[in-house]
Amino acid sequence: GVTFEPPSQTRVLTVANQKGGVGKTTTAVNIAAALARAGQQVLVIDNDPQGNASTALGVEHDRDAVSLYDVLLGEAAMHEVVRDSTFAPNLLCVPATIDLSGAEIELVSVDSRETRLRTALRSYLVHRAENGLPRLDYVFIDCPPSLGLLTVNAFTAAAEVLIPIQCEYYALEGLSQLLRNIDLIKEHLNPALEVSTILLTMSDTRTNLAREVAMEVRGHFPEQTLPTVIPRSVRISEAPSYGQTVIQYDPSSSGALAYAQAARELSTREARRIA
Ligand code: ADP
Ligand code: MG
Repeated sequence: GVTFEPPSQTRVLTVANQKGGVGKTTTAVNIAAALARAGQQVLVIDNDPQGNASTALGVEHDRDAVSLYDVLLGEAAMHEVVRDSTFAPNLLCVPATIDLSGAEIELVSVDSRETRLRTALRSYLVHRAENGLPRLDYVFIDCPPSLGLLTVNAFTAAAEVLIPIQCEYYALEGLSQLLRNIDLIKEHLNPALEVSTILLTMSDTRTNLAREVAMEVRGHFPEQTLPTVIPRSVRISEAPSYGQTVIQYDPSSSGALAYAQAARELSTREARRIA
């Protein structure tokens, strides 16, 4: 297989959009899997109580599994909860359990509630180095469809934001609110944060609407928008029910090829320093 040049430092990307169902999780796990297949060391942090990223990576996330919840509440270190995906040993996952939904409230009254994920991730990177484990090349943080404390933690832990935008009516609706929130995080918690990448997803490529949305997004974000557009594909939506990414489930499908190409484009863009 083809291997990619690793970034000069660990790249940490938060995959965010407060709209649900726009392809955040699908994008996080499939770009992660494509990078892993190309020889990169990749971690996906499932930061959504739904646990969809954990499911797609074949990682157990029953209520009693140790998970990101325990990390955020200070009851476990990240190295104690990280799991191998079923895809490859260089694709890791910190699973999410449903109790993570309570963390939004439980964190309100604890110290350093906005920086818990950042602290835990930094410690994990140090732990890997001290234990002779390979350096991580990419970390993807899959966010819930809200701008609450879980998402704030993700923005604070990352240097880059990856925003998936669905090629649909009202695609840009809510985006200005997301960008304002990112600006607030930059101002108060993480000056290094940048929207580095926008990916157009679920495109019905033959329709005028999809073309118009793509043009509008590229007009607003010419630097950030990846050239590749992810097509709507049944194979992409089938893969998670097999506990797989589409990269594994059907590597030659149009969806898998598009995600592999998007991963390559992301890898050739300048790595940003870890927050
Ligand atoms: P989010 O994480 O933003 O809520 P998901 O990634 O879970 O969104 O996607 C929402 C639904 O759409 C899921 O059922 C997923 O399998 C499906 N889906 C995502 N991308 C595609 C695509 N390119 N083609 C077809 N179905 C898709
Ligand atoms: Mg999701």
